[in-house]
Amino acid sequence: MAEPRVAEFFPAEKDPLRWAADWKPSPTTSRRIGIHTSIAGGVENAAERAFRLGCNTFQIFSTSPRQWRPYSLGRSQCEAMSQLRRRYDLKPLVIHSNYLINLAGTNSGFLKKSIAAFRGEVERGLALCAEYLVLHPGSFRGGGREEGLARTAASIAEACLGMDLAAGGLTILIENTAGAEYSLGGTFEQVAELLELLRAHVPVGACIDTCHTHVAGYDIVSEGGRALTLRQLGKTVGLENVRVWHCNDAKAERGSRLDRHEHIGRGRLGLEVFRALLNDRRLKDAAFIAETPIDDPGDDLRNVEALKGVVGRRSR
Ligand SMILES: [Zn+2]
Ligand SMILES: [Zn+2]
Repeated sequence: MAEPRVAEFFPAEKDPLRWAADWKPSPTTSRRIGIHTSIAGGVENAAERAFRLGCNTFQIFSTSPRQWRPYSLGRSQCEAMSQLRRRYDLKPLVIHSNYLINLAGTNSGFLKKSIAAFRGEVERGLALCAEYLVLHPGSFRGGGREEGLARTAASIAEACLGMDLAAGGLTILIENTAGAEYSLGGTFEQVAELLELLRAHVPVGACIDTCHTHVAGYDIVSEGGRALTLRQLGKTVGLENVRVWHCNDAKAERGSRLDRHEHIGRGRLGLEVFRALLNDRRLKDAAFIAETPIDDPGDDLRNVEALKGVVGRRSR
């Protein structure tokens, strides 16, 4: 199982909702920049937190990421979320799926549970008018990799039966992974293959994580290496299909397959990697979202500021 990537619940002193009522976030930029934000106290609170952190996009879990039992989402909560998003110009809203879900698994009982849980993710995504639902392609332990990819695609299609994602404006994004052990999605080719399999069933795109890309072995640090990696990404997944970039610096070295997120600019990647990606014209329509740890109060704000700091400012 993956380690927790983000602090979902944190002590009060770290909560932006507790900041002074007259707190003014710094201006947004010409890029969509945000961070994974806690839904503690109700899903709509995440929008208020994201605004206070100076974001113009954000990511949430729509339920507890490590429990099967989903929160119940009230209609008024969904309306409050939409209202806050309009008021604060927070777009897109990205939902990250529960980490327990494995749509590639060979155990039929667990697979059934995963499909039901993913159906819940889609239902909540539609209820919240989210633009994107991010999913890790899963683990093929107990079977072959090709078989695993096919099973994930079939499971997604099954989970979405009878729901009109296109009409709801919801797109499923397959995230690339660190590629450890049996996890699918460690290469751009595998992500691309999954998109290919899914296109006939649901609206799909990709979410590319900078930390995962690096530890999976791709060079995004040197200028030449980054150009080559982006060319590979373009030829397989297609740059226009990468709707979300998870912006995480990496604690571990390239090729280590160790998924440990680090604060922006303080890991093996460094700030220049993010400056290059955020200012790349080909990526200008993507959302850039940090999933960095909160070790000290204010880390979330500092990481958003670090990303915004590498692009030009525009007034709110
Ligand atoms: Zn990620
Ligand atoms: Zn990760």
